[in-house]
Amino acid sequence: MKPFLPFTRPSIDADSIAAVADVLRSGQIASGPKVLAFEAALSAYIGSQRRVRVMTSATEGLEIALDVAGVGEGDEVIVPAMSFAASANVVARVGAKPVFVDIELDTRNLDLSRVEAAITPRTRAIMPVHFSGLPVDMDRLYGIAAQRGLRVVEDAAHAIGSRHRERPIGSFGDLVVFSFHPNKNMTTIEGGAIATADAGEAEAIEIRRFHGIKRNAAGEVDVLLPGAKANLSDVAAQIGIDQLRRLDGFNARRRQLAARYFEELAGDASLVLPARGDTGHSWHMFTVLIDFAARGTTRPAFQKAMAERGIGIGVHYPSIPGLAYYRAQGHRPEDFPVAARVGRETVTLPLFPAMSDADVARVCEALRAQLTERPRLKSAAS
Ligand SMILES: *Cc1c(COP(=O)(O)O)cnc(C)c1O
Repeated sequence: MKPFLPFTRPSIDADSIAAVADVLRSGQIASGPKVLAFEAALSAYIGSQRRVRVMTSATEGLEIALDVAGVGEGDEVIVPAMSFAASANVVARVGAKPVFVDIELDTRNLDLSRVEAAITPRTRAIMPVHFSGLPVDMDRLYGIAAQRGLRVVEDAAHAIGSRHRERPIGSFGDLVVFSFHPNKNMTTIEGGAIATADAGEAEAIEIRRFHGIKRNAAGEVDVLLPGAKANLSDVAAQIGIDQLRRLDGFNARRRQLAARYFEELAGDASLVLPARGDTGHSWHMFTVLIDFAARGTTRPAFQKAMAERGIGIGVHYPSIPGLAYYRAQGHRPEDFPVAARVGRETVTLPLFPAMSDADVARVCEALRAQLTERPRLKSAAS
């Protein structure tokens, strides 16, 4: 049998491993010159003189960005009802309230036509997610934000290397947060970054990511606020430097693999395919919808059957208002029917740069075989 194909896998090459070994031998392994070099490389990659500050995760980055944007107790932030839970958790963690808005079925992005109705006098910010690397309509989003005087904290965890109308995500807009978790388009093992145009906000990020420390004029340590401990290590930054060099190649390969999936799966009535986007789509994931209930089966059973065929299948993501914590806060998943449907029906097919075209064919063959298999009759006892 062919080796198991996971739904994602990072590409770390021998040069990168050798470079990490050099950092380990250097004696300088916590935040130092490699962090500064990585930040400079990210800033150059994104362009438009954006200041980029790195930290230990996008989750920390989102929380710091909300705080820098002045979001706190009593405020509301608009969040898509389908995303990774961190998008909403960070809002709760700064003491604010996530106000969910439904998503669009094809792009799986925030439905911008529903945002205005969700804005109240307490709304401080909008947090769009560029789902699977497909940018939201930035002109429309920033139009609403400007008109209503709102900050935008972009959850760009899926979108490093994505472009909207030829402009890189992070090269414009307000506070833009990337993730370098191993599942994302590039990795530092764990890590994240915030891009901003504002020098004062870049300093505010530095202070918040490291104990609230700011040196005074005499060079002595002072603490301005109870900051986080979220500085990236030089070891992680070195991995990021190598990954960033390879990012455009990774994303080009992701686009080719996504195109192969569309060729193989177009016209399959048992699936709802994602929006195709344009060349600015970085294809962090390829997700399809399957109506498991109508097929008399469940998603876990499907995942198990696909695993038996050697194929890893992910789930990204359940509807956030349907999660226990958010239900307990009074949110109702049925108020966001598109997110609820996607949350029930979505599966993530394998997609990572080291995959071959034959791997895509193998996934689609297993998928078709599984979808045409008649569901087993339930035993009388069950
Ligand atoms: C991965 C992810 C995050 C969190 O990223 P970390 O770096 O793991 O903290 C946030 N939002 C979305 C949409 C993600 O996919």
